Amino acid sequence: MRAAVYHGSRDIRVEDLEVPDPGPGELLIEVHSAGICGTDASEWSHGPKMFPIAARSERSGHLGPMVPGHEFGGRVAARGKGVEGFPDGAVIASGAGISCGACSTCTRGLTNFCERYFTVGLQRNGALAQYVAVPASICLQVDQHGLGDDAAALVQPMSVAVHALRQGSPQPGDTVVVIGIGGVGAFLVYAAAEMGLRVIAADLAAERLAIAEELGAAATVEVDRNQDLAPQLRSALDSPAAVAYEVTGVAAALRAALAVVEPRGRAVAVGLGAEPVSIDVRSLTLREVSLVGTNAHVFGADFAEAARLVGRRPGGWSDVAPVALPLGELVQGGLRPMVDGRAERIKTLIDPWATELRRTGGWAAGSTP
Ligand SMILES: [Zn+2]
Ligand SMILES: [Zn+2]
Repeated sequence: MRAAVYHGSRDIRVEDLEVPDPGPGELLIEVHSAGICGTDASEWSHGPKMFPIAARSERSGHLGPMVPGHEFGGRVAARGKGVEGFPDGAVIASGAGISCGACSTCTRGLTNFCERYFTVGLQRNGALAQYVAVPASICLQVDQHGLGDDAAALVQPMSVAVHALRQGSPQPGDTVVVIGIGGVGAFLVYAAAEMGLRVIAADLAAERLAIAEELGAAATVEVDRNQDLAPQLRSALDSPAAVAYEVTGVAAALRAALAVVEPRGRAVAVGLGAEPVSIDVRSLTLREVSLVGTNAHVFGADFAEAARLVGRRPGGWSDVAPVALPLGELVQGGLRPMVDGRAERIKTLIDPWATELRRTGGWAAGSTP
């Protein structure tokens, strides 16, 4: 099978690999659409930081060159021992994160903090390949929810957005701010609008804000990076925000998120910056404002809701994810533009079976990309 194999920083090669054998409890998935995100881009530009290329992953056992790809769905091609359901050809979406189910955090339902947590496409071979093996326990059959191949690839990032949304504890009717309309921010806007929140979307790029409006944002702020962010956000708020979601990882944006929420409001730090951020704790304390974290997603709590949301959008997601690239264009057309900050698309998909760029369109069940 054709696969993109990560060997080291700035070294990804398209190679022929053996089709993986699904182990006990696993599915073999034929991948027609997989997303890439900032994690993949940063591993490519200055990794390996997470990928177990030089040092073995204690949790997955993987060591050496690895296939990335942790946002994916596909069609069931085979089942390992003990798998029930998941008929041949069924379209599934995968949660990618593997938890043990037995440790003290797993038994409390906090599978994203499992002591033995690891991720398909980060610590073992992932989906930038024509086939991937993945535990059936973290797959959801999504053609039953009306999703096709391209839609299935969006469920994992949507699930991260659903989890982040919950972490802010918004109530229907609340006003919320989303700063940064990228791969997670765009899904957050949609998920928030769908739950009846009034969403204010902020970004540097007018094109992304136009998409945010399509996704349900009530108002947008085209941010001038030479001006203070908080007053720019306030100008779009006619009532104070209950929650601000900071999705860029930029320190000034997190400080602005904390500043614009109402007393008892919450700022959710979704974006991860590289450096520690200094914040005005005095102002948080006096206004009883909370700073909230969010980490990945909880398959059991977030994933089905994410699939439902992806399937609910009439007409699909071609504005957010307009194309699927062949493996050979992964670096030039996908990772490099993200690293250089000139990515034109909110979400870039890869189709390991494509020989040239294709327009996306496999949104509904039964449609073939
Ligand atoms: Zn990702
Ligand atoms: Zn566990």
